Amino acid sequence: MPKNLHALTVDPQYAPAPAPINSRGTISGTFRLSPVRRVLSCPNAVLGMRAGEVNPRAAAVLELAESLVALMRVSPACVGLAAPQVGESVRVFCMDLTGHKKARSCAGLVVMANPRIVESSGEILMREGCMSVPDFTGDVRRAATVVVEGYEPGSGKLVRVAADAMEARCLQHEIDHLDGFVFVDRVADPSRSLFARKTYA
Ligand SMILES: [Zn+2]
Repeated sequence: MPKNLHALTVDPQYAPAPAPINSRGTISGTFRLSPVRRVLSCPNAVLGMRAGEVNPRAAAVLELAESLVALMRVSPACVGLAAPQVGESVRVFCMDLTGHKKARSCAGLVVMANPRIVESSGEILMREGCMSVPDFTGDVRRAATVVVEGYEPGSGKLVRVAADAMEARCLQHEIDHLDGFVFVDRVADPSRSLFARKTYA
């Protein structure tokens, strides 16, 4: 048993209470349940609406951000997730391009509430995919570099990311989700720019 867990079990304050004799009922705890979040697929009304601003310091916003990061971490090939993808129409997303082969700039784990693009330049066509569009990838034209500002859930601190290559693309893709767009909406000619998705083993 890990040392820290063992330490908890021997604290007499938390030692198991002796079983009551002739117990007549259940004493229920108050353990707080976290929702199990699942990623919605298109078409879905929440994915098509503009999400609302939030108070980045609100406990519920921090909890939502934590669950987005956890879901991103366990989803193969996922480099970003936005709150509308789990059915929450609020302006929160997470992103992490660490180790991605198409990344150049990499700010590591980025989690933002109420993000906005404050600078953008250039234009580039690149392939992208989305967990909410499980069957396709597509070639989408987006700004080559962006600077995005937002607020960190929990601390409420202002964060600013200057990004290029795949990270700039990911930021624009996630902010699109907050505005009710998926990448398929950005494809000029779906018959020529959408491709059957490769499966990730
Ligand atoms: Zn997406």
